[in-house]
Amino acid sequence: MQIECAETLKKIPPYLFVEIDKAKRQARAEGKDLIDLGIGDPDTPTPLHIIESLYKAACDPANHRYALDAGMPALKNEIALWHKKRFKVTLDAQTEILPLIGSKEGIAHTPFAFLNKFDVALVPDPAYPAYRNATILAGGEPYFMPLLENNDFLPDLKKIPASVLKKTKLMFLNYPNNPTSAVAPRRFLQELVKFCVKNKIILCFDMAYSEMGFDNYLAPSIFQISGAKEIAVEFHSLSKTYNMTGWRLGWACGNKDIVKAIAKIKSNIDSGIFQAVQIAGITALKTKEEFKQKMCKMYKARRDLLVGGLEKLGWPINPPKATFYLWTKIPYKMDSIALCDMIMQKAGIVATPGVGFGKYGEGYVRFALTQDKKRIKEAVKRLSFL
Ligand SMILES: *Cc1c(COP(=O)(O)O)cnc(C)c1O
Repeated sequence: MQIECAETLKKIPPYLFVEIDKAKRQARAEGKDLIDLGIGDPDTPTPLHIIESLYKAACDPANHRYALDAGMPALKNEIALWHKKRFKVTLDAQTEILPLIGSKEGIAHTPFAFLNKFDVALVPDPAYPAYRNATILAGGEPYFMPLLENNDFLPDLKKIPASVLKKTKLMFLNYPNNPTSAVAPRRFLQELVKFCVKNKIILCFDMAYSEMGFDNYLAPSIFQISGAKEIAVEFHSLSKTYNMTGWRLGWACGNKDIVKAIAKIKSNIDSGIFQAVQIAGITALKTKEEFKQKMCKMYKARRDLLVGGLEKLGWPINPPKATFYLWTKIPYKMDSIALCDMIMQKAGIVATPGVGFGKYGEGYVRFALTQDKKRIKEAVKRLSFL
């Protein structure tokens, strides 16, 4: 039988990262020593106290059963406390917070809760691919907002045509940003909230990198902007902050009607998060500030090494204030796939071509600071052939 996929699935563009993976495997099979600055996955382990908390909770038979769909009240309370402490934002633990199986899960389910056929979701370009792909899978239409360097990688809201706005129900944004490592100033967030209120757009604000800031930078929450709770939902994740990408724990929070709709979708698809993971999540959120400071210091040292090395090679770089990425303009007449191919072949360095995040990512390459200083120094040395 000829297996026919859904039209929506056929519309999902091929995943560039699968191609990169193939090239990586091949290079490794040839015995190349690769320095992988490709994927945004922390290289250091989950802190031991979180692992111990998981172990203890996993030993308790009470946690072996189906969890509550909507998340454990104790976890939701801890999340509310965290928001209060970190942002001075008040959230109602029961109605305004929804634990997720990783924030990607919630982000990808959101369009199903709000889009009717042909409704538009505004999606940044370049961006984390889930915003576009989930919109398409839900039967909606993505409209791409270019993130350009000359506008500090913020979307120009005035450029979105009125005809598009009429059909728009959702907007995705992510600051601190992957892949550009840009941050959003408060003045932009204020304009953004006004714009979404005026145009009746649900704002999905992805803060996966909220805790990764350098040089005293602290990312603001959208809920520090007045009026935001009328229209916004914010996505958070333990993945990058506590080196817990594999554990799958995040949350959505904000407007209670938005949160409720996402919860309804989820209750029909999954049956809650393993309770032992939720309990370990509570432990993670109680982690001393010191851990975060150490982590930021570590990434900052790596950032400075790579920025310094690339600058010596003539790459124009603005050291990022946040995230563990360097998003750099390619200083040669070469597209991003060709450049990444060349540095993989000639120097054994894996980086991600900007075009993999959207057409406005062309001309850029993303380096993830997910190798230790020694390997980053080695990478800089190997790149001197450029
Ligand atoms: C890593 C990442 C996420 C999500 O991670 P989860 O592991 O699913 O919580 C979400 N958004 C962006 C932009 C990311 O880079």
